[in-house]
Amino acid sequence: MSGNESRVQAIYQITNREAISVEKTDPLSKIWADDVFNLARMEWALSKAAFKSIKKTVETGAPLDPATADVVAAAMKEWAVSKGCKFFSHLFYPMTNITAEKHDGFVISDASGNAITEFSGSLLIKGEPDGSSFPNGSIRMTNAARGYTAWDPTSPAFVMHTDNGAVLMIPSVFMSWTGEALDKKIPLLRSNEAMNKAAQRVLSLMGETEIAPLNSSCGAEQEYFLVDSNFANARPDLLLAGRTLFGAPSAKGQEFDDHYFGAIPARVQVFMQDFEDQLYRLGIPAKTHHNEVAPGQFEIAPYFEAANVAADHQQLLMTLMKSTAKKHGFLCLLHEKPFAGINGSGKHVNWSVGNSTQGNLLDPGNTPHDNLNFLLFCGAVIRGVHLHGPLLRAVIASAGNDHRLGANEAPPAILSVYLGDQLEKVFQDIKDGNVSSSEDGGEMDLGLSQILSFKRDPGDRNRTSPFAFTGNRFEFRAVGSAQSVSGPLVAMNTMLADSLNWIAEKLEVELSKGADQTTAVVAVLKTLMDEHGNVVFGGDGYSSDWHTMAVEERGLKNIPTTADALPAFRSEAVKALFSSTGVLSPVELESRFEVYAEQYVLSIEVEAKLTMDMAKTIIYPAATRYLADLSITSAGLAEMNVELDSSVAKTVAAETNGMMAAVGKLSTALGQHDFASTEEHMQYCATEICGLMSEIRSHADTLEAEVADELWPLPKYQEMLFIK
Ligand code: ADP
Ligand code: MG
Repeated sequence: MSGNESRVQAIYQITNREAISVEKTDPLSKIWADDVFNLARMEWALSKAAFKSIKKTVETGAPLDPATADVVAAAMKEWAVSKGCKFFSHLFYPMTNITAEKHDGFVISDASGNAITEFSGSLLIKGEPDGSSFPNGSIRMTNAARGYTAWDPTSPAFVMHTDNGAVLMIPSVFMSWTGEALDKKIPLLRSNEAMNKAAQRVLSLMGETEIAPLNSSCGAEQEYFLVDSNFANARPDLLLAGRTLFGAPSAKGQEFDDHYFGAIPARVQVFMQDFEDQLYRLGIPAKTHHNEVAPGQFEIAPYFEAANVAADHQQLLMTLMKSTAKKHGFLCLLHEKPFAGINGSGKHVNWSVGNSTQGNLLDPGNTPHDNLNFLLFCGAVIRGVHLHGPLLRAVIASAGNDHRLGANEAPPAILSVYLGDQLEKVFQDIKDGNVSSSEDGGEMDLGLSQILSFKRDPGDRNRTSPFAFTGNRFEFRAVGSAQSVSGPLVAMNTMLADSLNWIAEKLEVELSKGADQTTAVVAVLKTLMDEHGNVVFGGDGYSSDWHTMAVEERGLKNIPTTADALPAFRSEAVKALFSSTGVLSPVELESRFEVYAEQYVLSIEVEAKLTMDMAKTIIYPAATRYLADLSITSAGLAEMNVELDSSVAKTVAAETNGMMAAVGKLSTALGQHDFASTEEHMQYCATEICGLMSEIRSHADTLEAEVADELWPLPKYQEMLFIK
């Protein structure tokens, strides 16, 4: 009996799959936002007065009065029931990267036993899931482990269709009874408000009289892998850890690669179309999709939206991507590094801030005055990244993302800012004092007119920078593909708020000395660049020269692992940043540290246990079976006086023994539970446990290259990546 039935079966199933035909779908105009209870739908369903009131809430975050809530709830229920909903759910985003929901029926029975539907304003506004099963860090009240959810009217309700029927989903915040944030939405809303306040202050000082509320925007590019589920089902590591814990590199240039390639686009196209139609129904503007660098890897990027809505949509997109892939016979991998040695997956978070009166403040404008505003906001970002690089590194820290950052394929684990040649020169000139005060009291151009043409040039990109200015926004490129975008957005909004406040104070001083605006801006930016210009870097972020220069000459931090990164949440600088802006209290911040640290430790431990399991129960049996085969063969040959070279058997035996010895060491290492601190426990995982896991893997991968193919039980890299 051979040992690779599941592999052979998988290939058989895949190659004999029935051809999938592309279905014709409804036009965009028909499906767009069809499942969303948005403003347009409310306008149609509500009285003029109720609509006016809810519109104000949606657009400005103003509190919703109970009477309006009742009217909106009734209209929402009627609409949802007409779409087949029997249940509603407050949808929320706990501190993990997942989305949580608890379904409640609309139905109640009346006195005579008839079913009627009920949905009041108070049910719409507030829900009470049992919060105790969600991580809450230190915020676990002994008498009230529960939390409650509250509708966030700035993110529209929608209907989600599943095999279980349709459910009305109500995007919500999740907090403890004492009002502490237990989720990823509350800090995002607060950070936006902090940024708005600080930006208003700066813009007023710049003489703007009409200033609409500012909002941050986010456009996230999502990378992912698709692997046929027949293969995935034969790989416990893909199913449980979302990545391969074993796997020898695929041999390059095999002819059959091309052969199998031909089938990829058709099947994936059908998946994409199905997936994107669902996004459109939910009002998620899927804009681009394409193949990515690695075989089997793809990207989808929706058009940017208000950060709060974009973050909700991102979560929805990840959920739908996985469920739709399943329907199409794929496992969708959002992990940052599913295959060692193959390009990993990231999520570029494009971010800007703006409003309806001044427009996008990160877009160089058409007038010198607009450009002053732009330079101030851009300068604020530079200062923010310089002061809070460790925070930015901490919010993208995860066991998965550690495989990318600093591994010379993704942005390095050193946070620097790329501005592009021309903009960098403008800031350098300001720093060097090459920009003198205004001519004849008029406003100076500052040489920014060139930037207008620069920003249209997509060729001017630095792919090695973790934080790049891309013409009218910054692109945080080091975010992991499985992560929620909220953490990065909170960090960016908050550091911007803090820097804009700093700028406002400095501007006030300059202006009170009688300086005109241009002179004041140039003076403030000069100070800013003197103190923080070190973070600006336009060179090759992958080079070892930069790694040395960044740390030794510029004083930037290289933070390679999550264990090194997460303690930033406990630093005085980060505590002060979040307290002063009102985004997170010290208690809330500490709870985040605990939750993220626990997640890190847990995910490493799960992988470690799985590594031992697979080594013992899948790889060891294959290797020893091969040794047995070899010994029978060589005994048979010996009878014919033919001597077989025993080097293969020796290698297999040595690697098998080496692997099992490392498994023994890992098992002992996992038994260690005595740590002085969470920090120490994380470091132990990053060094000791991860080190032993790679030791086991390296033996196993050598075995994969030695053991007879027909005995190898795990689908191989070339099969998973190329056979579709
Ligand atoms: P690239 O692959 O070149 O980085 P894409 O077009 O794939 O670019 O993605 C760019 C993303 O940036 C899209 O989601 C786009 O909507 C978003 N974006 C464009 N302008 C802004 C902006 N002002 N603020 C935030 N996001 C933006
Ligand atoms: Mg990009």
